[in-house]
Amino acid sequence: MDHSSEKNKSATKKKVAVVGGGLVGSLNACFFAKRGFEVVVFESREDIRCAKTVKGRSINLALSHRGRQALKHVGMEDKIVSKGIPMHARMIHKVNGKRSPIPYGKKGQYILSVGRANLNKELLTAAEAYPSTQLNFNHRLLDWSPETGTMTFLGPDGAETEIQADFIVGCDGAFSATRKQFLRRSRFNYSQTYIPHGYVELTMPPRNGDFAMEPNFLHIWPRNTFMMIALPNLDKTFTCTLFMPFEEFEKITTGDELMNFFQKYFPDSIPLLGVDALKRDFFRLPAQAMVSVKCSPYHLNDKCVLMGDAAHAVVPFYGQGMNAGFEDCLVWDEILNQFNEDFSAALPEYTRVRVPDDHAIADLAMYNYVEMRAHVNSKYFLFRKYLDNA
Ligand code: FAD
Repeated sequence: MDHSSEKNKSATKKKVAVVGGGLVGSLNACFFAKRGFEVVVFESREDIRCAKTVKGRSINLALSHRGRQALKHVGMEDKIVSKGIPMHARMIHKVNGKRSPIPYGKKGQYILSVGRANLNKELLTAAEAYPSTQLNFNHRLLDWSPETGTMTFLGPDGAETEIQADFIVGCDGAFSATRKQFLRRSRFNYSQTYIPHGYVELTMPPRNGDFAMEPNFLHIWPRNTFMMIALPNLDKTFTCTLFMPFEEFEKITTGDELMNFFQKYFPDSIPLLGVDALKRDFFRLPAQAMVSVKCSPYHLNDKCVLMGDAAHAVVPFYGQGMNAGFEDCLVWDEILNQFNEDFSAALPEYTRVRVPDDHAIADLAMYNYVEMRAHVNSKYFLFRKYLDNA
């Protein structure tokens, strides 16, 4: 993309520092750069476009309407959608192996399975294409000053460096370092809740060169207090995610115990996953925790705003964490239009408008998780909600 026209506009505009070059940070950099701001992104990891392995959470995610709208605004929707796999329905797997589809909406409606790493790479490249944007990797934010906007980073050489910006956008995820300054302020509300469930990811390889199951579905094995889901990938694999209470994970310590467990609850998946691969994947990493974070306000004076998981980490049972984070960028952009880029007026409005919506998403995600645990014998009705076409 040629964005040379943005170069002149940035000369008179604020210098915006985006902390975190994950999904929301890299998209946000595009939004600010498109408006002509000078944008500097600081990401603690190395550049994932050159990295051999990409550490992090879920391998793929469900992209839905609200996320697509934000991508569209910076001209990225088609590029991302072209690498996504439509999922028109959930496919429910019973213990006896029977499968039944439950559509997401009307005919033709679907959500998309997209690879996290590719999405992040594409967004970083799109941000970098703006001449007013600079990406800095291996820069971990340690602290910043709300008075001066000076940020302290641990740089690639292990030394601390200080960098100044007019405005800081905290997109540094659920354990945000940007948010620490908010916590020191009076009248900042904050809560975090870890749920008793953890998750592990398993890979289902292709079969005879094709997907091992029907590709255009989000597969779900609902098992009352726990469940497994599977989303398709472009390389014809599926990423299966097993969500289960930590205390159940802790009971499975040997390959035999694992196979007994799968034989009892997910027998149809065993030949598709493969016994050896299943044992390897399951024990490769400990189960990962899931946290829900709520806070308010999202802005600090006219110096900083929090977006994405830094503002509202949600449990993944509604498939809306990233989508809501993408929508943050769009809503902020619309408010900047409304207030003619007057940050001191736009920021309180952003908090006023956005906090209730993000809290609602967090509540819906948690509600669906609680439903899952409480309605032990209620067949599938609760899973009808899983990953709405929102
Ligand atoms: P992150 O993705 O956490 O990115 C934060 C970035 O900041 C990272 O790159 C990190 O390295 C960097 N960083 C952290 N600290 C610092 C620092 N001090 N200095 C500089 N950089 C820093 N959402 C959906 O919409 N659909 C789904 O289907 C879905 N499925 C999910 C499944 C699972 C199992 C999980 C756990 C989550 C899922 N989510 C889903 C939620 C989604 O992953 C998050 O909402 C999304 O990643 C948030 O993006 P983010 O950029 O705000 O934060």
